[in-house]
Parts: sequence; structure tokens; C-alpha cells
Amino acid sequence: MKIAVVGTGYVGLVTGTCFAETGNHVTCVDIDVQKIEKMRNKQMPIFEPGLDLLFNRNIEQGRLDFTTELAEGIKDAQVIFLALPTPPGEDGSADLQYILKVAEDLGPILEKYAVIVDKSTVPVGTAEKVRAKIQANAKVDFDVVSNPEFLREGVAVDDFMKPDRVVVGTQSAKAQKVMELLYAPLVRQGNPVIFMDEKSAELTKYAANSFLATKITFMNEIANLCELVGADVDAVRRGVGTDSRIGNRFLFAGIGYGGSCFPKDVQALAKSSREYDYNFELLNSVMEVNHRQKTKLFPKLIEYFGGSLRGKTIAVWGLAFKPNTDDIREAPALYNIDEFLEAGATVKVYDPEAMENVREIYGDKLVYSPHQYAASDDADALVIFTEWPVFRTPDFDVLAKGLKNSVIFDGRNLYDLDAMADLGFDYISVGRAEVK
Ligand code: NAD
Repeated sequence: MKIAVVGTGYVGLVTGTCFAETGNHVTCVDIDVQKIEKMRNKQMPIFEPGLDLLFNRNIEQGRLDFTTELAEGIKDAQVIFLALPTPPGEDGSADLQYILKVAEDLGPILEKYAVIVDKSTVPVGTAEKVRAKIQANAKVDFDVVSNPEFLREGVAVDDFMKPDRVVVGTQSAKAQKVMELLYAPLVRQGNPVIFMDEKSAELTKYAANSFLATKITFMNEIANLCELVGADVDAVRRGVGTDSRIGNRFLFAGIGYGGSCFPKDVQALAKSSREYDYNFELLNSVMEVNHRQKTKLFPKLIEYFGGSLRGKTIAVWGLAFKPNTDDIREAPALYNIDEFLEAGATVKVYDPEAMENVREIYGDKLVYSPHQYAASDDADALVIFTEWPVFRTPDFDVLAKGLKNSVIFDGRNLYDLDAMADLGFDYISVGRAEVK
């Protein structure tokens, strides 16, 4: 098939590349001229494991190309994906301006029937709005379909190529057939393509993300309680996770969720519930608890250093909101770095992939370290915010020799408490006893 993908970010680029990999011809459209130029030169604009191999192969074999011109990109396309941003607006609801603008632009340039697929995460009723915008100037027949994306950054290629399920909201038999054909190579093992009405598809994405955010937040509350009662959240996690009704995934306590999706999607669902006069109280609590959780370690650092961080040097391992991505949107690390800077500390940072994105925001306010031990050398404390594999078994001798004080604050519970005690570190993690 001939496909266009409008918006070439984490979702759009993975969608476009993976559909090219299954034999389609894909044109990716973006308004970011530099990004398009980079991709034309076979340079990846984002870090996503495994994507570069597919990206290069499909460009070389002529199935993947790039343009800044919408009309050129959608020419002859049977399917047009909208993978555009839906950031939170001022009131917390999803800002639809990018999607509706492209929908408006599509109307007059559609030359023949196409399925317009909304891949962005959008509130209930958006497909209707997109349809109306296109219809206002369309000369040809078209369908609008809701097809929310469930990929996780860091494992996006695998998630896309082998999805647990594909959700498609449409009541058009013609569009359903097109979507079935397109996804058939990805669901050969029998994973379902679940067809439903478009409103239910739109809500499914928010329900999934809000449920996952709630699951993490619940465990973070248990962790906070563990600290007060003297229990160990890791033991509790193993105890509850073995119950098949609960499951053992998404139960790791820590310093809260971040990223480009959970915070904005939970907020948007709470907001759109209010628009229907429904107070989704559970989500309000999830947001409040997560907000507190993100900077939970900060008062502990202040206490450890006798009331002030002024003049201290803090080493930070991990900036991305999770491992295996360079995405720093809503990353807990950034909230903490702001607190450290405001408290008068010098902050030395290291992340395997996210340094450049952080440098764009903080400039010379931070010290950027070429490797993890360069960050910890001569620092007063090490604080860990992202569970990158390379932080899991560090050389503790090098670490201890470099740090001025052998103390680690760990927002991701990477290390064993007894091992840290044996190694002579002070070790403060989340929902577990403090080693001092
Ligand atoms: P992103 O910010 O990484 O990428 C969006 C891209 O759209 C950018 O490259 C931007 O330049 C481009 N763009 C903006 N306006 C445009 C226009 N008028 N024409 C063409 N291109 C335009 O966003 P993302 O993370 O890929 O997310 C896209 C959508 O998918 C969002 O709704 C998000 O909630 C949803 N989603 C994201 C993820 C994820 O893990 N990132 C997962 C599932 C769903």
C-alpha cells in the first residue's frame, strides 16, 4: 500500500518505518525542516533501539521517504496516519490544534478516497471533529478511523511489530478492510485486531494509560507506607505480584512516573471527565500522589546534609524518564535537578542518551559528564533517577573512591540493601529501610 504518516516523532517514525518494513511505500511528513533534512541524510532524529537498522534498510530499498510538503506526502496515499502531538493545553485538556490544522489542510488536497487514521492520543469526539474539518473542503469520499498507539519508547519497534493487540475504531466496512490488510503481517500469531466504535477506541487509550499510571502510583503509596511501618516494598511487590489477578508488571516502586504520555493522558482524562460533569476522583489522587512522589528524595538529601545543599556537588545518574530512550519529557530527574539548583548545589549529570536534550534546556547550568564515574567523582552524593542497565552493577570501588561521601540516593531501588551495607555505603531508596 501507499501510506503517508504526518508527524514524524516517536510514534510517527516508528509507524512509518515499521509499515515500510512490511512492504508498504511510506512517505513521512513533518513541518520540522531540520528533522526532515536529517532523515533524508539517513540520520535518525531520535534514539530508539533497533529502529536505525529498519530505517536505513527501508530508505535504501526505496520504501521510506520524507517531505515537508503535506500535498506531496499524501499524493496517492490509501492510508494517511496522523501521528501529531497532543500536548496538554493550559487547562490540562489535550490540545488538538496540530491535528485539527492538518485535518483542515487535508480537505482540499485529497484527490481520491483515503482512510485518515488518527494515531495520536485524543479525547472522545476527536474523530468527529477531524471528519468535520476535512469534510468542510473535501471533494472526494474519505473515512476517519481511530487507531490509538500502545507502543512503549525503548521497545517501540518490538511493540509495533508484535503488538499485544491493535485497537481500531470505525464503523466503515471499507476502512475496516483497509486496516485489516495493513495490520495482517503484524498479528500473524493471532493477537487480536479489536474493532469497535471510534469513541470507545479513543477512550481505550486513555483508560489503558490511566490504569497503568494508577498501578504504579498505588505501589508508590504502598512504598511510602512501608517506610513508615518498617516493611520492605520489594517483598510486598513479590507477595502481591504473584497473584495472577494483579500480575507482576508495573509494580516497581520509585520516584513516580514521567514521560510524554502518562502525565498528560491522566490529566486529559480527568479534564474531559469534568466536561461531562463527572469527577474522576481516583485520577485526581493519582496526579497529586505522583506529583509529590517525584521529589520525594529531595527532603532526605537536605536532612542528610544537615539542612542545606548550598555548596554541595550532587551527581545525577539518569535523566531520561525511563531507560533506553532519550526522551526527557516530564522526567522526574528534571524536577529534582531544579530543586538541587535552587538549593545552591552544583549538579553533575550523566545519561547514556539524553544529555543533548537536557543541554538544550539547561545549557551551562549543569556539568555534563562523559561517563557515569566522571559525574560521581568529587561529588558529595550520588542520586539515581533512571534505571539504565549500565547503572545496575556499577564498580562500587570506583564509585566509593570518587565520591566525597559514600552515599547513594536511589529513586529506582537498583541495589540490594545487605550488599550496600557490606560495601559501606549509606543507601537511601524508596519504600525500604535506610542503610546508614
Ligand atoms: P512527538 O512530539 O515526538 O512528534 C510529533 C511530530 O509532529 C514532531 O516531529 C512535530 O514536528 C510534528 N508536527 C507538528 N505539527 C505538524 C504538522 N502540522 N505537520 C506535520 N508534522 C507536524 O510526538 P509523539 O511522542 O510521537 O506523540 C504523537 C502522539 O502519539 C501523541 O498524541 C502521543 O500522546 C501519542 N503517543 C505517544 C507515545 C510515545 O511513547 N511517545 C505512545 C503512544 C501514543
